[in-house]
Amino acid sequence: MVHRTIQICSSYKALHAEFQFIRKISKRNGYTSNFVDSIIQRQLNLKYERPAPVPPTLSTDTVVSKIPCLGKESQVYGKLVTSAVAKQYPLKKVRIVYDVADRIGRNFKNKDAVPDELKAGVVYEATCSQCNNSYIEQSCRHLKTRINEHLSDQKTFLPQPLKMPASNKKKKKNSQNPIPLYNGPITRLRTGKPPSSSIKLYKDDIDELLKQTTIKLKNDQPPVPKSAISKHYIKTHHTFTKNDFSTITPGRVKNIKNIIIFIIDVIQHRTAPL
Ligand SMILES: [Zn+2]
Repeated sequence: MVHRTIQICSSYKALHAEFQFIRKISKRNGYTSNFVDSIIQRQLNLKYERPAPVPPTLSTDTVVSKIPCLGKESQVYGKLVTSAVAKQYPLKKVRIVYDVADRIGRNFKNKDAVPDELKAGVVYEATCSQCNNSYIEQSCRHLKTRINEHLSDQKTFLPQPLKMPASNKKKKKNSQNPIPLYNGPITRLRTGKPPSSSIKLYKDDIDELLKQTTIKLKNDQPPVPKSAISKHYIKTHHTFTKNDFSTITPGRVKNIKNIIIFIIDVIQHRTAPL
């Protein structure tokens, strides 16, 4: 209660009045005034007394020392180093780590290699299967992610499979007559839903809708090729597939031309990432 009073009261006058009220109530409940005052004092001290300054402690820091493990000699050496440092530099702590040359891991050489497509920061090459033009780039992300980006960008330029004729047919069929959605009375018993009004579409309406959509399509900005592969497709109509990508290890950069292309690409990456 005292703590809450201190927190809530905004003026000393209000605080004093509240303390007086607490004293009165406590007295009625059988508490001695000394006890109540001591609590008030303690709470006030907590609020207004500054915490005692903590004497600055000298921070020690630990130095890790690696020693080859050669049996007892190493242990003796470690102890000597520790005691010598403790004498000379009391604030430094030395932790001796006995290092073993033969680790368990050395016996397990058949660790699974990371598959190429899950490697990051690799230099990769995309070779066109039709004209053998190749593009070399470096990806800082997983190769798989980058390849998918290339292919999805290329996809935006590929001729889209036309779904329109099928939907047109449907609409034509419907446009002969107003669409009889349901002729009988719509009851909740039949639908399980509140009755809804049926919409009748006429041929003119559909034509109008189609016009609007075509205008909208025309207003859309033509997509800009982001990937070198898309640019290649626009130029030559050659498409790349997932299999046309391969990683390049430094030893595989065959000729100077490739290196130059690679350097140019890296520079371009720095200024404007593809
Ligand atoms: Zn090509």
